[in-house]
Amino acid sequence: MATPPQLVQLKCPACHVLHWEIDHGYRGSGEVGERELSYTERMYRCPACGATGTGYLECDMSPPEFFLQPHPMYPMNVEEFDGWVAVLRENFPDHPRLRDLGTRWYASGVCSDEHGSKRPLWEGLKGWLSPDKWRSVLHRNKV
Ligand SMILES: [Zn+2]
Repeated sequence: MATPPQLVQLKCPACHVLHWEIDHGYRGSGEVGERELSYTERMYRCPACGATGTGYLECDMSPPEFFLQPHPMYPMNVEEFDGWVAVLRENFPDHPRLRDLGTRWYASGVCSDEHGSKRPLWEGLKGWLSPDKWRSVLHRNKV
C-alpha cells in the first residue's frame, strides 16, 4: 500500500533552487510489479529553471499524517500542523484540502501514547530515506 501523500521539498540538480511537490514516500509500485523509485530517481519539473528530469534531492518533508488529520491514531500537535498548512498555502494555494481547513481538516492534538501510536506510519517510510535523512526527519517532527 502506498504511504499517504506528503509535501516534499526538492532541490533541482541543475540550478539548486528548492521547490515543493506533493508526492508519496512510497508509491506502492512494487505491488503492481513495477520497481519503486526513490525521490532522486523520479521525474520532476523545476519551476525555477524549467528543466525536467531526475536527480532531485529531498530536503524536507511533511509528516505522513499531515493530510490525514484529524486522525485518532496519528495525531499532530496544532503548532506543527499550522506550520505545514502555511507551507501548503504558500506553494499550493488551490489545494482542495485548504477548503476544509478548520472544519473537516484540523490537527487531532497530541494523544497520551504519542510515541507508540506515531511509529507504525513512520516505519513505512524508513526504507526510502538515507539513514541521515531518516534521523533528521524524526528529529524535526519530534518522534
Ligand atoms: Zn532548476
